[in-house]
Amino acid sequence: MNAMQATVTKGPIYLDNQATTATDPRVVDAMLPYFTEIFGNAHSSGHAFGWQAEDAVEAARQKIADLIGAEQREIIFTSGATESNNLAIKGLARFNRARGDHLITTEIEHKCVLESFRRLEKEGFRVTYLAVKANGLIDLDALAAAIEERTLLVSVIGVHNEIGVIQPLADIAALCRRYGVQFHTDCAQAVGKTPLDVNQMQIDLLSISAHKMYGPMGIGALYVRRRPRVRLEPLFDGGGQERGLRSGTLPVPLCVGMGEAALIAGREMADESGRLTALRNRLLNAIRAQVADVQINGDLDRRVSGNLNLMFPHISGDDLVSGLKGLAISTGSACTSATIEPSYVLRALGLNEADAAASVRIGLGRFTTEAEIDKAGSMIVGEVLRLRGEGKTSASASAA
Ligand SMILES: *Cc1c(COP(=O)(O)O)cnc(C)c1O
Repeated sequence: MNAMQATVTKGPIYLDNQATTATDPRVVDAMLPYFTEIFGNAHSSGHAFGWQAEDAVEAARQKIADLIGAEQREIIFTSGATESNNLAIKGLARFNRARGDHLITTEIEHKCVLESFRRLEKEGFRVTYLAVKANGLIDLDALAAAIEERTLLVSVIGVHNEIGVIQPLADIAALCRRYGVQFHTDCAQAVGKTPLDVNQMQIDLLSISAHKMYGPMGIGALYVRRRPRVRLEPLFDGGGQERGLRSGTLPVPLCVGMGEAALIAGREMADESGRLTALRNRLLNAIRAQVADVQINGDLDRRVSGNLNLMFPHISGDDLVSGLKGLAISTGSACTSATIEPSYVLRALGLNEADAAASVRIGLGRFTTEAEIDKAGSMIVGEVLRLRGEGKTSASASAA
């Protein structure tokens, strides 16, 4: 870990851990033998190469299940949370078409969720996109009011990728149960960061991404409840792997890496989240001491430890991000930052276009150090004041 931190501090400081996280070196170590030595196909049932690979995959599946309180056979490997979300949403709607045609989600979902629902609208389903409160949290009364006789599914993001807010998943799920509606949550940013138990919380479908929890890119999982059973139509046709829900050869090294990432996250989550909350508060206090009118987008208390989303009135977030060459932060999310319009998520919280465009996302992670936070804080303050045409002298004057 020390070696890792030393290499991180050499280049730009990485504070974009909601876009992706570095693969933990312990995860890489666990994966390596499965490229060269134990390279069998987990679906080859006729020889030891296949059995060893299968054992490794099943051990990894168990570790992922343990992290969210699920059973091993309820975990379906996919290529990432994008695929998991597509499979959960389209799969459930298409399988249950005869029972209903109405679906509910929120305006602040990840693009891959919103676009899955758009696709279903083209297939004849009706979708309600719920507005959220100004703090980014769902309004449970509005959700209850939106549920209809023919509602099949509610899908709500567990921890938000831009504003970090944690939704009241157990309350949402309880409401869904009461009305006999199934509940899916995109937990790409939640798993390994905040405690989750699919049984206590009564979640039916839950999407996971390995590269958001210090595992490798290119793999994820979908939790699919077995009791009461959740039925899905698969997206792919093929050999019927993953209980018929996801055909294709499993990437054994990636499965092993995701399992190891889940194991580490389960062990270290409590300590890590305490450490990151302290670092986040340290950064926030440093910025607030010198930039009086900074505002926090999204609820600060009901938020994952590694996220800050800040609005600096009168400046452009894009200018701030590009001005800070030694710091990797972002405006909005990585998946939509190719577009120039300000975040639809911040607009959904009620921010006007200028304020949405004046916002940046800061994502702390496992390898973020206190020294990096202190350096990042002074870099951000310096650049904000420079963009506003305020000098260092006026900054110290206003801070006094
Ligand atoms: C990153 C992310 C995704 C997409 O996950 P991939 O594994 O990259 O496909 C989906 N939802 C949220 C909230 C995310 O943060």
